[in-house]
Amino acid sequence: MLDATDRRAAGRRWAAGCGAALLLAACTSSPEERAAEAGTAAGCPTAERAAPDPDRPVVTLDFRLDDDRRTVTGTETLAFTPDLPVEELWFRLIPNAPQSAGNALRVDAVRGEAVAGGRHVDADAEPGTPGGLYRVDLRAPVAAGETVSVELDFTLRLSTGRTPAGFDRLGARDDVTWWAGGFPLLTWEPGHGWAQDPFSEISGETTAATVADTTIRVSAPEELTVLMTGDQQQAQAAESGRRVWESHEPVARDASVAVGEFETAQVQAGDTTVTAGVLPGADTSADELAEDTATAIALLEERFGPFPYPTLTVPLVSDGRDGGGEEYPSSILLGSADFSLVVHEVAHMWFYGMVGNSQFRDPWLDEAFATYAESVADDHGDDDDLDRGGPVAGTMAEFADQDDYERRVYSKGAAALHAAREAAGSEVFDDAVRCYVETQAWTIARPEDLARALADLEPAVDVLVEAGALRPRDVEAAAE
Ligand SMILES: [Zn+2]
Repeated sequence: MLDATDRRAAGRRWAAGCGAALLLAACTSSPEERAAEAGTAAGCPTAERAAPDPDRPVVTLDFRLDDDRRTVTGTETLAFTPDLPVEELWFRLIPNAPQSAGNALRVDAVRGEAVAGGRHVDADAEPGTPGGLYRVDLRAPVAAGETVSVELDFTLRLSTGRTPAGFDRLGARDDVTWWAGGFPLLTWEPGHGWAQDPFSEISGETTAATVADTTIRVSAPEELTVLMTGDQQQAQAAESGRRVWESHEPVARDASVAVGEFETAQVQAGDTTVTAGVLPGADTSADELAEDTATAIALLEERFGPFPYPTLTVPLVSDGRDGGGEEYPSSILLGSADFSLVVHEVAHMWFYGMVGNSQFRDPWLDEAFATYAESVADDHGDDDDLDRGGPVAGTMAEFADQDDYERRVYSKGAAALHAAREAAGSEVFDDAVRCYVETQAWTIARPEDLARALADLEPAVDVLVEAGALRPRDVEAAAE
């Protein structure tokens, strides 16, 4: 995400006319095909883009936005094949975080042959919500490689007011309703197990979720347009006064849905179809926002390799003056159309969307990289950021306040990556980062995976250790 108050976005505006060529090409849809296209990065012995786990979860999300435009009811159908034995299932209820106070997600029912019951668990959720996690008890343990199927009914109530987060991942206004992470999110980290992290008072993401083969259906009042995660089909007329929108994204770790009185525009950015949407009275047009997004994709592809998804939706869910943005798989929620912000959120498609991380445990892995990536369109920020106190790495529970979090994770983290690139040499550093991106595609990466990709670039590793981004234990783990 990027906060409205973030200095990096606020102070800078990309100069028009960067001249990036947008190549038209045929669309490909499967992550496997795109893995083959990514090819091998120079200097990286194994850097073909990794294909996603064929046994990843299969999720269907059926949402119905009520005529009041602030209540969403839904059913989630999940087939989960754990790679470790499990005795229960855990889901994260993101709308119940303190930063989203006023919104609430409740699980109403859970079904399945293997299901014994379910209950909400607090996990430092906002008072007045049922809890931050939901635990589904199973009748018997499930072995690694066995598939367990469950269905959950849920109700999401959206706030029409502003939340402590400022620009937030969910909300409702007169002309738009949006909910990202607005369903029980399976919180499994392959190879490790359940992520049961508490929420944080700090406004930032705290999720760890594996990629899932995800189908989303949204029933909405017929006058509204849906922009969401995944490749969207044409809306179908449904019961009186409604349309149903459906999308599919084979590698989504979460899902974002925006439903509003959008004017939309579509452009092709290389292999990716970009659909942007703006509301009546917005301070930019859908055409401009789509073109800016395509430019960001072209600039970032030069540095980080092919864009991870065949589609990207970009709803601007305010009049453009709120600021802030939130990244979700193949969809970006924007509170402003500032170009630095667009580049930051598009960069998250590589760092969060494709190369996942625990946003609670290692928030710098996605935020420092997305902030660092802003430099493809503009000069990078202040080198003095490197001298700021405190390490870049830390869990969301370890920052003193919002300012400490943003200064260390975003500003110092990005400055450390720039300094590491300078110390190692830009070409070899870019190759090593590309190696990290391609080998960690569709996983939940850890700092040691980055240390492994940088292992031959000692000056870069030294800079990142000095800044407290990589820790000595990450470097040691990488050497094993
Ligand atoms: Zn961000």
